Amino acid sequence: MRTTEATSLDPARTNLGYLISISGVTMTIEDYLADLTPGCPLCGTSETRQSRRELRARDLQRRITQLRQRLEDIERSPDEINRLRPRISDMCGTCQMLMTCISSPTDAAELCERIRKQITDLEEEINELARAA
Ligand SMILES: [Zn+2]
Repeated sequence: MRTTEATSLDPARTNLGYLISISGVTMTIEDYLADLTPGCPLCGTSETRQSRRELRARDLQRRITQLRQRLEDIERSPDEINRLRPRISDMCGTCQMLMTCISSPTDAAELCERIRKQITDLEEEINELARAA
């Protein structure tokens, strides 16, 4: 899912309390816009989502899902690294770290190892959020 048509809207200027219903799912307009924000090419996160506490857990879960998907992609096709590398500057800080010194498909095993570790870290963060709630 990658929609960019609404990204020119400034989420800060939208009415936060306004509820919209899309495909039977009701959410605030801000949540909806956060969902549309094109995020990090590797894990899919965006600053909009990370900065809002109530979106944080959902963002973490989404990142885990997307990273697992990427992990499968890279394991199946190490050439995926050649597609990801030019997009490093669009990535979030965490993923830029994951990509450090990953320069060719021969680094696939190392990258997969780092992504697996990252998924574990994100899962721990979700557990901590759940405990704090
Ligand atoms: Zn990322």
